[in-house]
Amino acid sequence: MFRKVFIANRGEIALRVIRSCKELGLNTVIGFSEADRDSLPVKLADEKICIGPAPASASYLNIPSVISAIEITGADAVHPGYGFLSENIPFVEICEASRIVFIGPSAENIRMMGDKSFAKKTAKSYKIPVIPGYEENVLKAALAHAKKIGFPVIIKASAGGGGRGMRRVNTIDEFHKLWTTCQEEAKASFGESALYLEKFLERPRHIEVQLLGDKRGNIMVFPERDCSIQRRHQKLIEESPSPFVGEKLRRRLCGYAYKLAKKIGYRSAGTIEFLVDSDGRPYFIEMNTRIQVEHPVTEIVSGIDLLKSQILISQGDRLGFTQKDIKIKGCAIECRINAEDPSRNFMPSPGRIEKLVLPGGPGIRVDTHIYEGYTIPSYYDSLIMKLISYGRTRAEAVERMQRAFDETVIGGIKTTIPLYKKIFEHPIFLSGRYSVKWLENFLESESAKVSAEAAKN
Ligand code: ADP
Repeated sequence: MFRKVFIANRGEIALRVIRSCKELGLNTVIGFSEADRDSLPVKLADEKICIGPAPASASYLNIPSVISAIEITGADAVHPGYGFLSENIPFVEICEASRIVFIGPSAENIRMMGDKSFAKKTAKSYKIPVIPGYEENVLKAALAHAKKIGFPVIIKASAGGGGRGMRRVNTIDEFHKLWTTCQEEAKASFGESALYLEKFLERPRHIEVQLLGDKRGNIMVFPERDCSIQRRHQKLIEESPSPFVGEKLRRRLCGYAYKLAKKIGYRSAGTIEFLVDSDGRPYFIEMNTRIQVEHPVTEIVSGIDLLKSQILISQGDRLGFTQKDIKIKGCAIECRINAEDPSRNFMPSPGRIEKLVLPGGPGIRVDTHIYEGYTIPSYYDSLIMKLISYGRTRAEAVERMQRAFDETVIGGIKTTIPLYKKIFEHPIFLSGRYSVKWLENFLESESAKVSAEAAKN
């Protein structure tokens, strides 16, 4: 049993980890930046320690500072949440060498899956389908492959993440220029410039499979999440099960996820991501070796606490359930509420929460670190709340979400709720027949409407 768990993160996920630790009877200590002194997780953890100034590079990403804080506070395990140090191999190696249990996969697991082109090659070697392309970082050969598979193609950063470091290329003429731009962006964002190439799929769905691997080699997979509602390749709404996936495809996706995790000896919570083309053919795109933002929808439909399971696995415990116990019931949908102004090109809207009324009632879960009087700092990402609804059917989950939007009041800042209200009334969203392109097209048509109105007046 761990004595004390150090939380190396902030915001809603820090709070989520504290909640699971409390339920497991574990003491918590949070490392916080100067900008987060007044945040809810800092108030709710058993102990707190400042790890540096506001910029993440000086605090949440500062490995010597985080490791010292763990040592000083005597924690014997660290939960990294998502983002920040959650997939940082040097950090995990230092933890492993310092006898601090990293609540996540091994450094070796991350090494196998962290580099996206290498992960693709690994998946391919296990006969898991991948999108046709070229996995080596060689411009000339990549161009030759692009000509062979046909345009459009997509150039991706091997170290990429969070929807960044990707460029669609429509013609041969653009290829050189976009390759260079992508290389520069990748170097600036991820410190590594290696690229690879894929056929660009026109209207795919993004479907992913959550899994848990324990230290005894058992792998359990969970029925899919659909994360196709995206803006700039970033997920905004996720649901489980997918309204698009039938039993046959579900079995295939879960089978591929199981196989890949088993082959690499994966030991923690993780997610295997696929794109499914308009003909229903699935392709592996990457693995995320961490707990993800959208994990609650799976927790709700399966009734299994993934965070607790992840902690128990890293303690070496046996999980209290088997694959046969994983059944899904009903439908859950999550909306990522951001402090952004959707009517002004999603401009960040940090500031003081003057008024806060949270929704409730049957089938509503709210994961948030904000409270009335709290000031959202401008240094970090803009996720302020995850609104999750559950229903016996998708229609019921949608109705409950609509009710939750109406009940919610967040005063003092702008949020993305007005956009979600429109999405939840749109026939395409309601029908479940959307691809990863749908939201971008919808936003374009909305802004065209606004311009036409402005021209009339
Ligand atoms: P990241 O690691 O940054 O999250 P992913 O490789 O997981 O990037 O892709 C994120 C999103 O980008 C996908 O869900 C999809 O919308 C889009 N995308 C990625 N690869 C392709 C592709 N080959 N064709 C079309 N869209 C793609």
